[in-house]
Amino acid sequence: MIDKHKELIEKSKQYLWLPFTQMQDYDNDPLIIESGEGVLLKDTEGKTYYDGFSSVWLNVHGHRKKELDDAIRTQLDKIAHSTLLGMTNVPAVELAERLAQLTPKGLDRVFYSDSGAAAVEIALKMAFQYWQNIGKPEKQKFVTMTNGYHGDTVGAVSVGNIDIFHKVYKPLLFESYKVSYPYVYRHSSGDTDVCRDECLAELQAMLEERHNEIAAVIVEPMMQGAGGMILMPEGFLAGAARLCQEYDVLLITDEVATGFGRTGEMFAVNHEGVVPDIITAGKGITGGYLPIAITMTNERIYQAFYDDYTKLKTFFHGHSYTGNQLGCAVALANLDLFESEKIVANVKEKSMLIKEELECFNELAHVGDIRHIGFMAGIELVNNKESKQPFQWEKRTGYKVSLKMRELGMLTRPLGDVIAFLPPLASSPQDLKAMIAIMKEAIQTVTEGAAVDG
Ligand SMILES: *Cc1c(COP(=O)(O)O)cnc(C)c1O
Repeated sequence: MIDKHKELIEKSKQYLWLPFTQMQDYDNDPLIIESGEGVLLKDTEGKTYYDGFSSVWLNVHGHRKKELDDAIRTQLDKIAHSTLLGMTNVPAVELAERLAQLTPKGLDRVFYSDSGAAAVEIALKMAFQYWQNIGKPEKQKFVTMTNGYHGDTVGAVSVGNIDIFHKVYKPLLFESYKVSYPYVYRHSSGDTDVCRDECLAELQAMLEERHNEIAAVIVEPMMQGAGGMILMPEGFLAGAARLCQEYDVLLITDEVATGFGRTGEMFAVNHEGVVPDIITAGKGITGGYLPIAITMTNERIYQAFYDDYTKLKTFFHGHSYTGNQLGCAVALANLDLFESEKIVANVKEKSMLIKEELECFNELAHVGDIRHIGFMAGIELVNNKESKQPFQWEKRTGYKVSLKMRELGMLTRPLGDVIAFLPPLASSPQDLKAMIAIMKEAIQTVTEGAAVDG
C-alpha cells in the first residue's frame, strides 16, 4: 500500500502537468486522491479530508451518490456516446426539456458543451453572430467587469479581468470594454449603496457612448467566483439588466459557478428576478460527476439563426462530446435528486448556519471581510484590518492557510488571500460546523503565528 503510494507520487511528478498549478508547489507537496464517500475524499495514504470546495465548486450530493452511480450504469447498458451533430439522443432531449422548465422564463433553447469555458465561448459567438444575422454587424464588442472570470480558453480570457491570470496572454486576446464591478469592501466610499450606484452609472455611461458597437454585457450574477468571492450589492444585477434592455445590448449571465442551487436559488438571477438573453451553466449540472455544460437562450436569438442553409446563418460551433449521453443521464438523475431531496430549500436554510458560524471570524486579527451567499463564501485576509492593507502577495498567506487546512483534514483552494468555502450542497450541519472550525483554526494559526509580519 505505502509502496504503491510512493510509486504513484513519483510517476505523478514525472508525467503530469496540473491545471492552474505551479508544478514546483505540487512536487513539494504532492497529493493523490484515491476515493471519495459523501463529503469526504481519501488519499493514497488512507488519510481523509473534507471536500471543502466541492472538488472545485462541482459536487452537490457528495461522492458515490447511489442514484447518480446507478444512472450512469443504466445508461451504459444502452450507449455511452453518439454525436449531436445533425442528430440527437434520448437523454439529451429529456434533459433539454427539464432545463427549459428550470431556467427563467423564455430561456428554452439549450446548446450543450463540455466545460464552463466552452459554454462561455458559445455564448460570445452566439451573441456576436446574432447581431450579424439580424443586420447589425457593427455590434461586435463585449463589456466585462473588473475581477470577472469566465474560463481559460482564449475567448473566455478575453472577457476575463483578473490580472494575475490574464496579463501574460494579453497580446493574444480580443479587446473588450471593462467597467467596475461593485466591490463594496474595496470601494473608496465603503458604502453599499454608493458603490452600487457609482458602478451602475459607469455602466450606463459606457452603454450610452458605445451601445452601437456593443454586442453584449457579460457578468457573473450575484457573486463573482474566481475573482475573490465578491458579492454584489442588492439591486445591482437588476439595474444592469435594465440598462442592457434600455440600450439594446444583450445580457449574458455566466452561472457556471452560481447555477444549480449554489447561491440558494436554482439560478442566481432569480434573486433579482432577472431574465438574461443568454445564460451559461456547468459545474453542478451533473452533481459533479461528468463534464456537461450548457448555454441557453431565448426564441428571439434562436430564430435569428433559423433559415435556409444557403443564407449561411447556421451557428458554426460544436464539440466532439457535445450532448454526451452518460453526462446527460447523470444530469437528469441529479435534477431528480434536487427535487426529491429539496436541495435548493436546504441550501437556503443551511446557509443561515454558515452565516452564523462565520460571524465569529470577525474577531480574528487578519480577517478583513466575510462575503457569503448560499453555499458560496469568501473570507478576505488582510495585513491590517483598519487600513484594509493586503498582505504582500508574495507571502502567499492564502496558500499557506490552505496547506494548514489540508493538514487539519480539509481541502480547498484559495483565491489569492481570499479563503473560499464552497462545500457540497448536501453537507449536513455537523459537516459544515466541522469544516468551518478547521478553516478558523487554520486562518488563526497561519495569520497570527510569529512568521507573519505583513
Ligand atoms: C469555473 C467557471 C468557468 C469555467 O468553467 P470550466 O468548466 O472550468 O471551463 C466559467 N465561468 C465561471 C463563472 C466559473 O466559475
